[in-house]
Amino acid sequence: MAEPKENVLMEKIVSLCKRRGFVFQSSEIYGGINGFWDYGPLGAELKRNVKELWWNSMTRLRDDVVGLEATIIMAPQIWKASGHVETFADMMRECPMTRKRVRTDQVEPQSGSVVKFTGAVSNPKPEVHDDYLTTIETSASSFSNAANNREAINNCVKSVVSVKHSGASDLDERVEEETGIFWANHCTHASTEFSILLPAGKPVESAKKSAISFYQSLGVENPVLLGGVTEKVEDSTDFHPESGVKLGPSRPFNLMLQTYVGPIQSEENIAYLRPETAQAIFAQFKNVHETSRQKVPFGIAQVGKAFRNEVTPRNFTFRSREFEQMELEFFIKPDEAVEAIHGNVAVPTAPGHPGEPQPNWGWQMWHQYWVEERVRFYEGIGLSRATLGFHIQTPEELAHYARATTDILFKFPFSKVDEQGEVKGDELEGVAARSDFDLSQHERHSGKAMGVFDEDLRTAWGKLAPEKQKELRQRYYEARKKYLTKTAREGDSPEKIEKEAQEDADGLAKGQYIPHVIEPSAGVDRLILALLANAFTETTSTDEKGKSEVRTVMKFHPRVAPVKVGVFPLLKNKPELVAKAKEVFQLLRGHMLAFYDETGAIGRRYARQDEAGTPFGVTIDFDTLGEKPELLNTVTVRHRDDGAQERIPISELPGWLLARVK
Ligand code: ATP
Repeated sequence: MAEPKENVLMEKIVSLCKRRGFVFQSSEIYGGINGFWDYGPLGAELKRNVKELWWNSMTRLRDDVVGLEATIIMAPQIWKASGHVETFADMMRECPMTRKRVRTDQVEPQSGSVVKFTGAVSNPKPEVHDDYLTTIETSASSFSNAANNREAINNCVKSVVSVKHSGASDLDERVEEETGIFWANHCTHASTEFSILLPAGKPVESAKKSAISFYQSLGVENPVLLGGVTEKVEDSTDFHPESGVKLGPSRPFNLMLQTYVGPIQSEENIAYLRPETAQAIFAQFKNVHETSRQKVPFGIAQVGKAFRNEVTPRNFTFRSREFEQMELEFFIKPDEAVEAIHGNVAVPTAPGHPGEPQPNWGWQMWHQYWVEERVRFYEGIGLSRATLGFHIQTPEELAHYARATTDILFKFPFSKVDEQGEVKGDELEGVAARSDFDLSQHERHSGKAMGVFDEDLRTAWGKLAPEKQKELRQRYYEARKKYLTKTAREGDSPEKIEKEAQEDADGLAKGQYIPHVIEPSAGVDRLILALLANAFTETTSTDEKGKSEVRTVMKFHPRVAPVKVGVFPLLKNKPELVAKAKEVFQLLRGHMLAFYDETGAIGRRYARQDEAGTPFGVTIDFDTLGEKPELLNTVTVRHRDDGAQERIPISELPGWLLARVK
């Protein structure tokens, strides 16, 4: 269970987001739509800043990464090749009463008393089957008592029928038929279980009420409940967190949202809203490789929308159904190629950033490099290492093709405390070493070659000792055979697989291979939420009259802050001050997002900007106009986080600010 304190903090953040225009519920005027969020004026700026910083650091400031902007809807074959159609599913369970679904792995353990009904039968009314039911009605109590016993009911019906039709020549058939009708009409749910966890202090009667309405919803008229035993459960994850009803079985639920392309809504026209941006990068790998003149190792980056029909969207924007991702696919040589070219493969020898990329790096070095690069990025926008956590996926958690995945976590206000009393955090980004799985899959499904030719490898291979050639070839052959076997499709006989793996190994010797990939995949919305939570600070100030006030200061790193600077004339009713302030505002807005505000006391204006997270405030006062000649054309710059003030000449202001906000 989340600590109440944590919920309070989340509530404050959600409320600030709405009040100040960071995040709104989508379609709010119609009651909202679960799992969808809109970003208001401040949120939109914050998001833009984050995406731009990511884009700059991942592409523009690097020689080895280029960008891509692909469509959201792509050929559905892409999702078959990637495995999403088959396996992109979460296990979920449904509340049989409310039909609400929950992710199997996300049900909080609950303890308490459970009332268990083994089924219900319909208490027959005389008018339904007046042929014999009047008689049953008269013995309703014995019917109820016998109701959990199919044989007893059968006998009861039989005796009624035989009494009614005594002397009939086809008595046996009629008894059979009537028993069947009776059973179907009244007892189909005689063994449909319904269990409900009683909330503390609630009487068993409330469980009965729920059970009756449940069986009624199944079509059981006048339900007579069977069973009704109360038992204790401890830390059970079998009950719906809201209704308390025992959940149905765990079933896979595909998370892809579907639509139809074209005017005909038929099976062949089904298309999917992409559940990740990455697959477009793989599908366009050849085009990008050929047109960008990049050589492996190099990366392709993309920022864009992704959609997942999450079973239980929750924790504000953390788990949404529409969200944005910032993904990099960084293509590297297989280790066998690196070894052939450089004689060895560098592997990590110590934790931390491994420094500038080197030509002899194997996949492990690249993986560690990207984890650390991403951490540096987060640190650079104000998320200190202390606010982050790491989860190294266990072999059981890893996808079959993945060699390693490190999740970078952020300690959100709703993150759980573990047994050691520590907060581990929740996933902000996953950095996965995905082998050559993705490109290989697209090669097989599309029939288009996805491999590259590496001149360095071909040259180096020719100079290798025969034993080395044999060893590297064998390793590569085995890896390919393993992949081909794991992903074998109909018609992929062992002989065919063997032949293909041999061909791939022959290709390596000629300088051909399918690149491997390291994938740092981050969620924009989760990062925005992390930045909001990280920035949220409350301060209490007391005025001269002793009245204290709690104020919120959003301590965003200046690089991500939506508004970089507030510009204020000290007084609104002094035209000279207003004119000068507007001049300064115009000067600054060409360089960064500035906000002009002249209404209210200056303290109020500062407070409003503190809440918006604006790192600097510039005040134009009488000294700016030359009241103290030595201060002519200078302004006061106020720092949001400590309220410190300094005097800066207007001519230096853009440079001074840019150095701090870029
Ligand atoms: P989770 O286990 O939390 O569902 P995931 O491992 O399925 O996440 P990935 O498929 O690795 O997530 O997606 C990469 C990133 O995309 C995640 O680290 C996260 O930041 C973001 N992301 C994934 N699903 C969602 C979602 N439903 N809402 C918001 N962001 C998401």
